[in-house]
Amino acid sequence: MESILELEHVSYAYHSPEGETPALVDLSFHVDQGDFVAVIGPSGCGKSTLLSIIAGLLKPEHGTVRIHGKSLEKNSINIGYMLQKDYLLEWRSIYKNILLGLEIQHALTKETKQYANELLHLYGLSQFKNSKPSELSGGMRQRAALIRTLVLNPDFLLLDEPFSALDYQTRLNVGDDIGQIIKKEKKTALLVTHDLSEAISLANKIIILTKRPARINKVLCLSFDPQNDTPLHRRNTPEFKTYFNTLWEALNKND
Ligand code: ADP
Repeated sequence: MESILELEHVSYAYHSPEGETPALVDLSFHVDQGDFVAVIGPSGCGKSTLLSIIAGLLKPEHGTVRIHGKSLEKNSINIGYMLQKDYLLEWRSIYKNILLGLEIQHALTKETKQYANELLHLYGLSQFKNSKPSELSGGMRQRAALIRTLVLNPDFLLLDEPFSALDYQTRLNVGDDIGQIIKKEKKTALLVTHDLSEAISLANKIIILTKRPARINKVLCLSFDPQNDTPLHRRNTPEFKTYFNTLWEALNKND
């Protein structure tokens, strides 16, 4: 299986006049084509730092990060982001928000517009095409934000706690909904979350980090019956509870 992302012995510390704050220590893992990998760990352990390194916003002090076998500077694949906030612009309609990335990349063509329309239709937002973001529910807005990302046809999606701003019930529905869309579109994804159930319902591999400075505590590979393998269905299987207990134990052993 081809690796999309490979981290080898990555370490990072923040430096300030008060001293050094080590955030990541010796992290090595890989994300293969088609994987949905979740990274979980206690709050403040270094998850956002890790995503910033993968996104190329921070440079690791030690170790290497490769995307499709190339260094981040030479990376030629398209990375999509989905963040806690949807960052939809209120003065643009949903359709115009979805086309924004294509406009910026000068990639607005008949074909890309058609793809945007197909995604809107497929994921139930066609009738809200001309609405303003404030006219949509939180869940619909997150779906619009995902479509805005997908329309750029990313090879790899980085998801930074994308559902955490939603209330619990919406969070469950939207998390499951968006997880299914990502699988249906056959995207490779890395999700950072502190929600164990969310990680189990979406991922095929979970990387558990220790508290700061983050090291790898455990890597858990998940396997569910491929028949009817949806996030919602996973939550009702006996395996779900077993995986939950394994993660819970690993996080609580965390010294
Ligand atoms: P998480 O996303 O898991 O909550 P972060 O990656 O945001 O954790 O932060 C990891 C640690 O690094 C935290 O303890 C935080 O205090 C520290 N940290 C984050 N950003 C900075 C910074 N710019 N300067 C100094 N320390 C930082």
